[in-house]
Amino acid sequence: MNTNQNYKNLNESYLFSTIAKKVNDFTSQNPDTEIIKLGIGDVTLPLCSAVIEALHSAVDEMGEKETFKGYGPEQGYDFLKSAIQNYYKTNNVNLDLNEIFISDGAKSDLGNILDLFDKDNTVIVPDPVYPVYVDTNIMAGRNIIYTDANENNNFLPLPDLSVKADLIYICSPNNPTGAVYNKEQLKQWIDYAIKNNAVILFDAAYESFIDDNNLPKSIYEIENAKKCAIEFCSLSKTAGFTGTRCGYTIVPNALNFNGMSLNKMWLRRQTTKFNGVPYIVQKGAAAVFTQDGQKQIQENLNYYKQNAKVISNTLDKLNIKYTGGKNSPYIWLKCPNNMNSWDFFDILLNKIGVVGTPGAGFGKNGNNWFRLTSFNTYEKTQEAMKRFYNLFK
Ligand code: PLP
Repeated sequence: MNTNQNYKNLNESYLFSTIAKKVNDFTSQNPDTEIIKLGIGDVTLPLCSAVIEALHSAVDEMGEKETFKGYGPEQGYDFLKSAIQNYYKTNNVNLDLNEIFISDGAKSDLGNILDLFDKDNTVIVPDPVYPVYVDTNIMAGRNIIYTDANENNNFLPLPDLSVKADLIYICSPNNPTGAVYNKEQLKQWIDYAIKNNAVILFDAAYESFIDDNNLPKSIYEIENAKKCAIEFCSLSKTAGFTGTRCGYTIVPNALNFNGMSLNKMWLRRQTTKFNGVPYIVQKGAAAVFTQDGQKQIQENLNYYKQNAKVISNTLDKLNIKYTGGKNSPYIWLKCPNNMNSWDFFDILLNKIGVVGTPGAGFGKNGNNWFRLTSFNTYEKTQEAMKRFYNLFK
């Protein structure tokens, strides 16, 4: 028996354990300082009432012989797929029901989708990046080419026509940079993918933070995307489902490569290796797309967006450069005096008791950048940014 040697090539992730250790050390030495965490990548507001009601009533259905549900369709119940289909229509995207696959979240599908692709495919991943794209490909032994996302391109790299790639990761709105591609920029990636016979893996996990109607929430808003892109989305950040677990992946019927349909392959993969998302959770998820659900999740999203504004207003006043803050829960700021992101982390923690995430944890282009998030309370975000302003004014 031989183990998968590719696991030896994974970088140990010290980011969040190092942060936790530094915070613990500080707290034990300064028990009276109130620490404010603006590094949180998880939502903090509870599920909205439309979802809670739907979950309760689905639980009751499971307790009655007449309405009890056993195994459901692996690709999800039609009631939820139809709700998602209608949601896409509001962005002028028409999907067939069989193109929509319900999952337990974007992370699983982002990893699992790699089952469909040859090990020798070349992968393009932006740097800095959500680490899952990198690690899942390293586990499979694939060759990764990094594209620089930096200040020069506003953290929105465009295709390098001299590079030949097979799989392309795009995350927009981006974690960690908060940057969002516009339609013209995404069209360049689509043209490039079609020319290279490549597939774009488009992560739309933060689409619900987009307020600007000119920015695309789905890659399928752009012509020809159905010929080259798979889209991953999630209710985690949209509706507070990080602990409830529900997402969806769109695999268009038009994706045909080597005489094989990616949609059929994904269906085969899911029916073989996955037994579906719990009925109860899918009922809760469907409630997100009702009129009440949409109104209620919007209130929560607005709360986070207001926090993002508190952060970005402070940075504006201090003339500190940043991306995100608009159309995204993340604010990606340039460390003052081009400081290293870990040094900046130490200063914020030790001088004002504020915790963020050093950009170095997301790739080399994050070395002098820092991620703040809008998921804390309004009061704590205000207090943190008051301290931040007084320190740097
Ligand atoms: N994609 C991005 C860019 C994320 O930041 C996250 C979570 O933080 C995910 C996907 C995972 O989402 P889910 O909770 O649906 O697995």
